[in-house]
Amino acid sequence: MAVKQVRLYGDPVLRQRSEQVEEIDDEIRDLVAGLVATVDDAEGLGLAAPQIGILKRVIVVVEPGGDGQREHHVVINPAIVSACGEDVNEEGCLSIPGIFAKVKRPQSVALRGRDPSGRDVNIEAKGMMARAFAHEIDHLDGILFTDRISMVKRSLLKRKLNEIKKQAKEMLRSPQ
Ligand SMILES: [Zn+2]
Repeated sequence: MAVKQVRLYGDPVLRQRSEQVEEIDDEIRDLVAGLVATVDDAEGLGLAAPQIGILKRVIVVVEPGGDGQREHHVVINPAIVSACGEDVNEEGCLSIPGIFAKVKRPQSVALRGRDPSGRDVNIEAKGMMARAFAHEIDHLDGILFTDRISMVKRSLLKRKLNEIKKQAKEMLRSPQ
């Protein structure tokens, strides 16, 4: 499965709400393969379908293991069922390259959804993993981590964000 182009901040697709997946068919399996290939190529920790231009509720979160291993948690129609505590830590996004900011997230989350074979899954995640799931689920509702930082911080990043927007426009004009 080919690596897909990651859509950048400013691309309107990142601001739309993704649709629930009704049936896990070839199209969805293809999308899952594309997400996994793309997040690995970018050495990212997570990716959501709208980031490769597909408005479906599918995410992948990567759990780094020993020896550079990467375990992929693919969740279809993920929903957070409970969240506990608060954790403030640095966050980044493949769609907003080069920008990092501290974002407040739950310390732990419980979520449910389906795996690519259609089975129900229940996941409990803490710390960085909880952060990654919350971040990717936000993408499915058109929310970016820069929406969750203070206005002061956002205004400090404005120039960089505008540069990424310019790149996004170029990409939309001449897609790969
Ligand atoms: Zn992201």
